Amino acid sequence: MNIENEMELINSYSRKELKEEDVYVFNVTLCDNEIDRDYERFTKESLDGLCEMFCGKTGIFDHNMKAQGQSARIFKTWVEEVQGKMTSDSQQYYRLRARAYMVRTENNKALIDEIDGGIKKEVSVGCAVKEIRCSVCGADMKSHCCEHVKGRTYSGKLCFGILTNPYDAYEWSFVAVPSQREAGVTKAFGQDETDVVSLVKNAPQGITLSETQVTKLSSYIEGLERTKSDASFCRERLLCDLRKCVLISMPEVDAGNFVKGFENMDINELSNLCEQFKTRIAKTQLPLVQLGGKKEKHPTDNGAFRI
Ligand SMILES: [Zn+2]
Repeated sequence: MNIENEMELINSYSRKELKEEDVYVFNVTLCDNEIDRDYERFTKESLDGLCEMFCGKTGIFDHNMKAQGQSARIFKTWVEEVQGKMTSDSQQYYRLRARAYMVRTENNKALIDEIDGGIKKEVSVGCAVKEIRCSVCGADMKSHCCEHVKGRTYSGKLCFGILTNPYDAYEWSFVAVPSQREAGVTKAFGQDETDVVSLVKNAPQGITLSETQVTKLSSYIEGLERTKSDASFCRERLLCDLRKCVLISMPEVDAGNFVKGFENMDINELSNLCEQFKTRIAKTQLPLVQLGGKKEKHPTDNGAFRI
């Protein structure tokens, strides 16, 4: 493609008419079909899908630079077959390439020199895919986990996730540590936090998360912490109830020691046991003193009954 045609494409994205000397134009590799360090890879078809989605997308050089307008825009993308190069799982190697432009300013002079000098050449992309197929059994690892773990080998076959049906490409940026070997990929696999959780669970080798994913994971963890605190409270109450039940129904037994024997029970089991005691007490017409009522002591006094 000659420069006139390129300027025409660039100007289709620009608000004001740009001349050749106004812009800095460069190539980047967005992603490829090699297995990355998260043990995932795109297919040729997913690269084709992403190819269309990345056209026109703005990229940034780091988050601080966003405010200074140091961004570039992709105006052309293509999937390139690299002759004679195979992926580590013996597929023809393909990569998604893009041509991007920056409007030259005083502020980005140094940055352009860095790109020219090959210093800032690693690109990270953010995209979303519908499915991650297990390379061993073909199951969608996103919706229901199979027994295979990415990065492990089963009967000589490496397990990795095959990223299929991309449905969104939302960012690209230059980063220091790329996820892929040849390019950098930050993948987002959906909108709900359970996706991020299964993502983390399936990444024994470590994983790169996007800002959005980190936010989702944090709020998921906060939810778990609240549930944990509720569960601890219920547990304390049950152990306290159980101790009272023992005191009432078996006054000859040391209730504290007796209840200690049940500390490893889960909440359901403790609750059932409590109910059995209460039924028994009700049958024997013994008074139900304070059962299920307020705590008789400060929670710290029940320290011995905590798990
Ligand atoms: Zn599997």
